[in-house]
Amino acid sequence: MYKVLMITSEAEPFAKVGGLGEAVSAMAVELSRQGHDVRIAVPRYYFIDPVKEHLRKNSKPLGIPLGIREEWAGVYESVLPNVKAKVPVYFLDHEGCYGRDGVYGPWGGEGFSDNVLRYALLCRGAFQLCRMLDWIPDIMHSHDWPGALCGVYLKTLESRTEFARTAAVLTLHNAGYQGVYPKDTMAHTGLSWEHFYGSGFEYYDQVNLLQAGIKNADTVTTVSPGYAREILTPEKGNGLEGILREKDNRFTGILNGIDYSTWNTETDPFLPHHFSEKTLEEKEKIKTRLKEQISLTAGKDKPLIGMIGRIVDQKGYGVLLGYGHTGLEAICRELDVQVVILGTGSAAYEQELAHLARKLPNLKVVFQFNTQLAHLIEAGADFFLMPSLFEPCGLNQLYSLRYGAIPIVSNTGGLADTVENYDPAAGKGTGILIDQVTSQDIYAAVKKAVDLYKNDKAAIESLRRQGMVKRFSWTHSAEKYIQSYEKAIAIRRQS
Ligand code: ADP
Repeated sequence: MYKVLMITSEAEPFAKVGGLGEAVSAMAVELSRQGHDVRIAVPRYYFIDPVKEHLRKNSKPLGIPLGIREEWAGVYESVLPNVKAKVPVYFLDHEGCYGRDGVYGPWGGEGFSDNVLRYALLCRGAFQLCRMLDWIPDIMHSHDWPGALCGVYLKTLESRTEFARTAAVLTLHNAGYQGVYPKDTMAHTGLSWEHFYGSGFEYYDQVNLLQAGIKNADTVTTVSPGYAREILTPEKGNGLEGILREKDNRFTGILNGIDYSTWNTETDPFLPHHFSEKTLEEKEKIKTRLKEQISLTAGKDKPLIGMIGRIVDQKGYGVLLGYGHTGLEAICRELDVQVVILGTGSAAYEQELAHLARKLPNLKVVFQFNTQLAHLIEAGADFFLMPSLFEPCGLNQLYSLRYGAIPIVSNTGGLADTVENYDPAAGKGTGILIDQVTSQDIYAAVKKAVDLYKNDKAAIESLRRQGMVKRFSWTHSAEKYIQSYEKAIAIRRQS
């Protein structure tokens, strides 16, 4: 049995911006279910209301040393709700760092300029928290750049303390975000210039938190084997390929799972009708309800394509909305389809989408974070489009498979690992892969989907069924995390 502290900027249901918050909580629950003592440390952002969330305030504040100064933070405590496993969650409360709206930056804006301080406080605070609890973990499992400093502290300031045997594991949920800030922010970490050069922070004369985290972690994981291979290449490594290569067999890809109790077509409380792979006709009724909700009238026989997620470049919006109207506009004008997009993100892309939706009656856009509508789209849509430039794992295509919305996805990272391209000769597959993320290839993949929908109902049903019975469960993934923990502990204890 391992004692594991997860250090993270997001943990569902308290704080979730993307897939990270979902993955961390689900991973913690499964590891705990398998008998490990797993706890989570996360900031108490301003929007986490202690009263509404029933958080208990610890009577003692934490003193957190950061170089020559000491910051004081309160600690709130709770557990992950609605799960059998008991996963304690500790919230660091600090008005100066977290008493404002937003997680990484103002909603829809750039990152906060003091993010190094905000997340140094979380990471340094994690050690003080353990001391306060008199609970020294075997593993400090950090997530993405906000948690990355933990591994650095383990190898520097905490190398000869009661944490000397604690191993550092770092999971990269998205290596595109690295926590790169001006060099003078190094002072906020409480580390010296010697560490800037020696501990892996230096990156084109700036501070790179993720790079330092990778260098100091005993093992590093990412969220799919395909993405793990891709980020070892100069094309997709975002400058981290060199340092990742050095990790050699201490770097692995472990696919995320999804929570099949939440994402269950037979019990989902957000759905007006329930269905399974044996009662696909019920899906039609949900499609009708979805179209009513988003005021997408007429077009009964047209295939409905859904998109859900952050409206940013990574998700392919640059290509879909790019020059020449050959992307989304051509799809909506030339193909006999209806499209619904749910998401929030870049203001420029939102404006462009709103503009397109005013011109195109078969395109609806909803700029909200709306879980109910997300479930309804997965269940009601015929296809789910996800033309990401890169995708560490991706969750929405997994929900789509489960909900019978045939995924049309780019041939990259976790998407390629989880969606099997339709092979008409063998009648096998679970979705349609887009060759390259260009407007031409996206158009061609959508056209292929529309043609199948119009001309080959049997193929569509078969694709849906094969997708719906696939399972990407956390049980298997948690076992792989344990292997990575074992390796990290062995390495730490040898050093
Ligand atoms: P990423 O983590 O890169 O944002 P993922 O597909 O891995 O993308 O996970 C995104 C998660 O957030 C999914 O669970 C998705 O359903 C959810 N999500 C994103 N945007 C919205 C939105 N506007 N409304 C509801 N859920 C959303």
